[in-house]
Amino acid sequence: MDYLPLFLKLHQQRCLIVGGGDVATRKARLLLQAGAALTIAAPELTAELAALRDAGQLQHKAGHYAATLLDGQRLVIAATDDAAINATVYTDCEARGILVNAVDDPGHCRFIVPAIVDRSPLVVAVSSGGNAPVLARMVKARLETWLPHGYGLLAALAGKLRDAVKQRLASETERRRFWEDALDSPAAEQAMGGDIDGAQARLLAQLEAGARNAGAVYLVGAGPGNPDLLTFRALHLMQKSDVVLYDNLVSPQILELVRRDAERIYVGKKANNHALPQEEINQLLVRLAQQGKRVLRLKGGDPFIFGRGGEEIAELAAAGIPFEVVPGITSAAGASCYAGIPLTHRDHAQSVTFVTGHRRADEIELDWPRLVNPTETVVVYMGVKQAPSICQQLIAHGRAADTPVAIVERATWPDQRTIVGTLATLPALIEQHTVKPPALIIIGSVVSLHDQLDWRHAAQD
Ligand code: SAH
Repeated sequence: MDYLPLFLKLHQQRCLIVGGGDVATRKARLLLQAGAALTIAAPELTAELAALRDAGQLQHKAGHYAATLLDGQRLVIAATDDAAINATVYTDCEARGILVNAVDDPGHCRFIVPAIVDRSPLVVAVSSGGNAPVLARMVKARLETWLPHGYGLLAALAGKLRDAVKQRLASETERRRFWEDALDSPAAEQAMGGDIDGAQARLLAQLEAGARNAGAVYLVGAGPGNPDLLTFRALHLMQKSDVVLYDNLVSPQILELVRRDAERIYVGKKANNHALPQEEINQLLVRLAQQGKRVLRLKGGDPFIFGRGGEEIAELAAAGIPFEVVPGITSAAGASCYAGIPLTHRDHAQSVTFVTGHRRADEIELDWPRLVNPTETVVVYMGVKQAPSICQQLIAHGRAADTPVAIVERATWPDQRTIVGTLATLPALIEQHTVKPPALIIIGSVVSLHDQLDWRHAAQD
């Protein structure tokens, strides 16, 4: 090992940067983040450094470098564009035993500055010992996507609980067990979601009672089907859950990403076309969580858009079970982007309405007069079967028969199809192309942009 990794407490410690350009500015940001009492020695400063000086965040010694500037400094960074000056700063610091770094000049560094993944108070530092800074940055980028942002909050929670845990659990083994459990518990997720106080109270209560973890339910939007469109939070919870409830709209590729050994429960429509009744799903969620499990309720698109997400969590709330809701990309957004049909556009539509074409008691309950405004886009979910009557009603209530309409089948999936017509021609097109659910109908002038904006097929044209 050429360099020993250390974390240096610089709070209110005197540090000097020699140089006032862009590189110096980047280093200054970093030292200020660490709370250093910073001086910049340079004839001139960038606008950002000057603003920091004016705000009293750093001191400026105008003029060229002189060794007397080093008096009383703990740490120095040489960041001028003159390699000879940087080398002199290095030699002078070495003579005084001051930690020194000459930027981009490993031969003149006592310490090097790593690539940093900051989830303060949790910090990961990556270094290639000056050999391959770009490689270090690539590793950092990997870690950035891999380490949940909430880990900072989790580390803060652990800090708050440390003393209490020490007081109550005498042996180190007990404490380690507690932490292994706690840091991987629903309370940990609660903290990572931002509710540190709630998580703290919960863990303290468990500590007092010597109880094991209670369960929780995560109602997670899985997006329209393409796994790349999952959120980080969704993926994180998919990999943490003990059991997952899913239905038709969740693609196999997405299900692949759920923890291998999690139990999978299908609650969608079976071959006989009967889904598990909603009430049974609600009760199942409650029951599984009461067994102490982390339950993932994975939903297509967004859980709060035509997803009955509200009904499912109402039951959980009533039963006092902790839950979290994670938004997903709703299929209208997925279809719009992947078909090159903006839902709003200054020249075409000033608003967009999402409606369901699902029938209740033989009637499509839609407020037709509200849906005929030519400057509004209407997106119909669950509308394939009812498309003929939807088109007919819109025309009957005054929307032009030649209004452009698209039907987007399996949006964002590899086999997505987009079929374009008008209110008058859509029903025949659906029949002709045997369009099947899941599919969305997009109605309005914006659909005319599809020809030009269909980026996924642009290369082949
Ligand atoms: N919560 C979901 C909607 C559930 S309702 C969301 O936010 O997207 C089910 C309807 O969503 C389907 O009938 C279909 O109209 C639409 N849908 C879901 N996924 C789709 C996809 N990949 N492509 C087209 N439509 C989709």
